[in-house]
Amino acid sequence: MKKIGLLGGMTCESSIEYYKLINEITRKKLGGIHSAESIMVSVDFGNILPWMEAGKWDLVLDKLIRSSLEVEKGGGDFLVICTNTMHKLADQIAEKINIPILNIIDVTAEEIKKKGLSKIGLLGTRFTMVQDFYRKRLEQKHNIEVVIPDKIDISYIHKVIMEELTIGKIVQESKSGYWKIIKKLQQVGAEGIILGCTEIPLLVKQEEGKIPLFDTTSIHASAAVELSLSK
Ligand code: GLU
Repeated sequence: MKKIGLLGGMTCESSIEYYKLINEITRKKLGGIHSAESIMVSVDFGNILPWMEAGKWDLVLDKLIRSSLEVEKGGGDFLVICTNTMHKLADQIAEKINIPILNIIDVTAEEIKKKGLSKIGLLGTRFTMVQDFYRKRLEQKHNIEVVIPDKIDISYIHKVIMEELTIGKIVQESKSGYWKIIKKLQQVGAEGIILGCTEIPLLVKQEEGKIPLFDTTSIHASAAVELSLSK
């Protein structure tokens, strides 16, 4: 079994889910009382968010490289960056560490392709929806067309993530707000929706609607277990 290296704390609400999922999936696969071998280095998101909001991505990158090296030193065989947004920096982090990164965009794209879908709605932080790192990788590397919400909806989705989900607040009104936006994306041709922020699956669930939802937290956690158990 390979040791799963987790870069967590972004936010702790979803890191808990990663930890729970990788152990549950491992137990299911191996049976008995088995659990995953892992190490998590967890950062203080309260220090990092202001840098992101101020566009100081060099400071974010420096912190994440140092934390990723701690994961490596702790014996992680590969790195799972437990956030979609920070995949903006994944390639730059990869250059500075000696273990591979299991990219959340790539493993999500594989699931979308398995379902035979080619046009997808993307929900996430403002950074993930508006900047091109996520969309470009889906479009250019995986040939998946991406649609995003309009300006007002982008602000709403981002605000709910930052003011509610990242501090563990689940608000029914926000759930309805998200579903309204999902329906709008469906009307412009989205065949499925990427829950492209690792906290969104805490709010929006597949059983609440028919359109296929791609829960990046559980897709990423399952892929991590697959890789840890592979020869
Ligand atoms: N967990 C989130 C994500 O998947 C948001 C927190 C962050 O900006 O890292 O994008």
